[in-house]
Amino acid sequence: MDRVPALRLYGKRGSPQAFAIRDFLHRSDVPFDWVELGSDEQARAELGLDNVNDTRLPICVFPDGTRMERPTVRQVTEKLGWFHHPSRSEYDVAIYGAGPAGLSASVYASSEGLRTVLVERFAVGGQAGSSPNIENYLGFPDGISGAQLAERAREQAAKFGVEVLIDRAGVRGEFSTCKGVVELNDGTTLVSRVSVCATGVEYRRLELPGEDKFLGAGVYYGAGASEAQLCGNEHVVMVGAGNSSAQASLHLSRYARKVTIVMRGKRLNDNVSEYLVDRVTHTPNIEILPKSQVVALHGDEMLHAVTIRNCETGDERMIETSFLFLCLGGRPNTQWAQEVGIVRDEQGYLVTGPDLAPTTESWKLNREPYYLETSMPGVFAAGDVRHGSIKRVASAVGEGAMTIAFVHRYLASG
Ligand SMILES: Cc1cc2nc3c(=O)[nH]c(=O)nc-3n(C[C@H](O)[C@H](O)[C@H](O)COP(=O)(O)OP(=O)(O)OC[C@H]3O[C@@H](n4cnc5c(N)ncnc54)[C@H](O)[C@@H]3O)c2cc1C
Repeated sequence: MDRVPALRLYGKRGSPQAFAIRDFLHRSDVPFDWVELGSDEQARAELGLDNVNDTRLPICVFPDGTRMERPTVRQVTEKLGWFHHPSRSEYDVAIYGAGPAGLSASVYASSEGLRTVLVERFAVGGQAGSSPNIENYLGFPDGISGAQLAERAREQAAKFGVEVLIDRAGVRGEFSTCKGVVELNDGTTLVSRVSVCATGVEYRRLELPGEDKFLGAGVYYGAGASEAQLCGNEHVVMVGAGNSSAQASLHLSRYARKVTIVMRGKRLNDNVSEYLVDRVTHTPNIEILPKSQVVALHGDEMLHAVTIRNCETGDERMIETSFLFLCLGGRPNTQWAQEVGIVRDEQGYLVTGPDLAPTTESWKLNREPYYLETSMPGVFAAGDVRHGSIKRVASAVGEGAMTIAFVHRYLASG
C-alpha cells in the first residue's frame, strides 16, 4: 500500500543539500516526493522562484503548508517531531550509534527494564540503513531493505521506551567504575551507569582532489540507496570489491544503463557471498574492471566524468558519469577511546573481553573483563567497531543483545 508522503522536496539535480535530506529521509524510511527542477519556468510555476539557481533551494513543503527554504537535516527532523532533548539526568545505559548493534542493544536493555538512551549522529539504521536489500538476515527470505529493518527496530525500541536522540554524536567521555559522563557535539552531557559503543566504522575515501566538492553531487559513500532510482539510463561507476559493492551494483543495475565495478584486485573479494558473485557475473549490464582504480574526478558543480587507470599497464580511460559510488569498507572512529586510555588495536577497533587479557595493565578489578567489555569497566563495545567483529547485520544484532546480558552482570556486581 502506498504511504502518504511526509513532505515534498524540491531541488536541482546534483545539489549536495538536497542529497543530504534525501539520504536522511530514505534511510529513515520516511516517504517523500522528490521534485527535480529542470528549468526556470518549472521553478517559477511550482515555487514562485526567480530561476532554477535560486539560492533558496532546496525547499521542503509539508502537508500543513509549512515551507522550509534551504533547511538543514536538523531542521527537517525538528519539523517531523523527531528531535528531542534527554529527559533524564541519569540513565542506566547510554548506547552510542543506532546501527543494528545499537538498536538491538537498546531493544534488549529497555525491554529488560533498564532506563535507556540511544544516541545517533545521523539517521537510525547505520550502514545497514543504506543497504537496498539485505538478503542474508534470518527470517526475511525475500530480503528486506536496510531502511525498513531499521525503522521496524526503531519502532520496537520506542515501544519499550528507549529515548532516541538523533542528529547528536558522542565526542568525548569520562568514565569511572560507577558512571560514564559523555559530552555530545551540541554540548549536552549524558550520564549513565553503563556505556555501550556501537559506532560502527567510517567509510574510507578515495583521497582525490575534488572529492569533498562532489560529495552528494555525483560522489556517494556506500550504496547510495536513495539515488538508485535517479540513475535511469546513466552509466554509473562503483568502487569496491566487497559484499556491499556487489550488492549495491546489482541494485543499481536495475535502474542504470550500465554499472562499471572498479577494483584493485583481480576479482571480487574471497569473502563475498557466493550467491552475489554468481549474480554479478551473470548480469549483462554490469562490467567489472579488475586491477584498476579511479585516479581523477572531473566536473564543475557536479561530477561529469572519472578517469580510471589500469594498475598493471598504466593505461587510462575516461568514463562519463554523474554517479560514482564508493563502497571501500571503513575504519572505526574511536579517537575518543584513545583519549581516555581504552585499549584499541592497530586499526583503532575496540578490544574487548578475552582479547584484552595479556595486554591490559590498566585493568584493576579482580574479575576478568566480560566478553564484550572494553578495558574500561562498564564500557562495552558491540558490532563493527569491535576488534574481531564479523561485519554482518546478524552478528551486530547478536552482539547488541549479548552486551545487555553482560550489562546486567556488571550492574549486579555493584
Ligand atoms: C551498502 C552496504 C550493504 C550491506 N549489506 C549487508 C548485507 O546484506 N548483509 C549483512 O549481513 N551485512 C551487510 N552490510 C554490513 C552491515 O551493514 C554492517 O556490518 C552493520 O551495519 C554493522 O552494524 P553496527 O551497528 O555495528 O554499525 P553501523 O551500521 O556502522 O552503525 C553505526 C552507527 O553509529 C553512528 N555513529 C558513529 N559515530 C557516532 C557517535 N560518535 N555518536 C553517535 N552515533 C555515532 C553512525 O552514524 C551509525 O549510524 C552492508 C554494509 C553496507 C555499507
